[in-house]
Amino acid sequence: METKYIFVTGGVASSLGKGIISSSLGKLLQARGYNITIQKFDPYINIDPGTLNPYEHGECYVTVDGQETDLDLGHYERFTGIQTTRANNITTGRIYQNVIDKERRGDYLGKTIQVVPHITDEIKRNIKLMGQKYKFDFVITEIGGTIGDIESQPFLEAIRQLRWEMGRNAINVHLTYVPYLAAAGELKTKPTQTSVKQLQGLGIQPEVLVLRTEHHLSDDLRRKVAHFCNVDFEAVIQSPDMPSIYEVPLSMQQQGLDAICLKKMDVEVGPTPELGPWRSFLERRKQAKEILDIGLVGKYDLQDAYKSILESLAHAGTYNDRKVHAHFINSEHINRDNVGEKLAGMDGIVICPGFGQRGIEGKILAAEYTRTHDIPTFGICLGMQMMVIEFARNVLGFADANSREMDSKTPHNVIDIMEEQKNITQMGGTMRLGAYECEVRKGSRAWEAYGEQTLVRERHRHRYEFNNKFLADYEAHGMHCVGRNPEADLVEIVEIPELRWYIGTQFHPEYSSTVLKPHPLFMSFVAACIGNK
Ligand code: GLN
Repeated sequence: METKYIFVTGGVASSLGKGIISSSLGKLLQARGYNITIQKFDPYINIDPGTLNPYEHGECYVTVDGQETDLDLGHYERFTGIQTTRANNITTGRIYQNVIDKERRGDYLGKTIQVVPHITDEIKRNIKLMGQKYKFDFVITEIGGTIGDIESQPFLEAIRQLRWEMGRNAINVHLTYVPYLAAAGELKTKPTQTSVKQLQGLGIQPEVLVLRTEHHLSDDLRRKVAHFCNVDFEAVIQSPDMPSIYEVPLSMQQQGLDAICLKKMDVEVGPTPELGPWRSFLERRKQAKEILDIGLVGKYDLQDAYKSILESLAHAGTYNDRKVHAHFINSEHINRDNVGEKLAGMDGIVICPGFGQRGIEGKILAAEYTRTHDIPTFGICLGMQMMVIEFARNVLGFADANSREMDSKTPHNVIDIMEEQKNITQMGGTMRLGAYECEVRKGSRAWEAYGEQTLVRERHRHRYEFNNKFLADYEAHGMHCVGRNPEADLVEIVEIPELRWYIGTQFHPEYSSTVLKPHPLFMSFVAACIGNK
């Protein structure tokens, strides 16, 4: 079978959940036995989201091969269990960078470089890259942004051309919104019609429409949309709000989203797959009534900044038959007097990743409180570094212990800059990124959590490291460095075995927890939190 391309676009408003629809469609096609991948094209000019403030763009997700990407790639992996790579997330910045590099090399032989055809050709080349290289059956391409944005125009032009070239091997699934006007008591389809008209004006006739809605859409209403938009009635799918994003694939399957896409591409539809393990996960999720309260100590009080951590906790919660309620605790508001009060009622604490000075003293106080009160604690990246600093200050007796990131002069730089990082001046893409091996010490808590595995691979995104100069001191005083990188000898996991569950990881386990494969450290952490209830 030739590779088929499904383009997912969005209209009317942003944040409708194109990533969830793309992931769901990917999941459903995968369940039919197809080899699939999902990629995202982001119209912004940044080369990657690595330098973006989480307030602007939510969490930065990291692929195994070390690309800093859009958080939607996290959804792709959590839904399908298929790892993404550098090639799965392309921005306008990267497209332009490629074109400009080629121009400087003289590849264009004296031509005037223009958006059409040079930028659009580069977009087309990148869209087809994965399909050509790995012979996928289906490549789902999500286009970031909303129809009508100036930035997305070259992408839509590229899609128009590809659809023309590929015939039935390419379709467009367009996601829109049907608002409900409470005063009129009516659902309104006009924004959808307008959005489809806009697409048509760009030469793209969508084959499938997915209508996001907070209310059920009647057949009449869907028929009306079909009629106005030149789309088959059965290809107008509704996507109501669900109690969990993980219910969306079932709702899409029930309405035949995957089947209609196959039909439109002349692929035999065949029997509907069972999705057995997926359904059991949702069933278990529903059955889990008992609540577990977990505090997230961090400086960003917005959900998207810690997306993968929240999802990892939810996965592990379900498999431990608990409903995790995550409570955001702003570390900037934590001080010595109120720390107990701020963390009160929590069955466990996650000390979150982050960069820079803001909110770190609150994280250190939280680490001290949970260590001295034996509350299960999971420190991730900067969170682990704060555990290490706290231990140095309060147990090893180095009052001025700090990270080189926050204090460049302290003699007790228990977290230090890596040698190869010292002379780097560029911010973008220059951290220790992607998956590295970690040797786990036999008999440690982490080793138990990993099912007694002694070698694991985890993803990183940081510039600073545990300073091995102090290693013996830590070991002697009860904080053990139980995870080490075999090549560089960098410390990857610390734990205090004397406590119930006090583990910090320099890596980000949250990037690799999926619905069908929860991360072992989160599983073990959640189990410890249950024990603490
Ligand atoms: N700021 C820290 C570092 O660069 C931690 C980064 C993180 O938490 N992702 O090492």
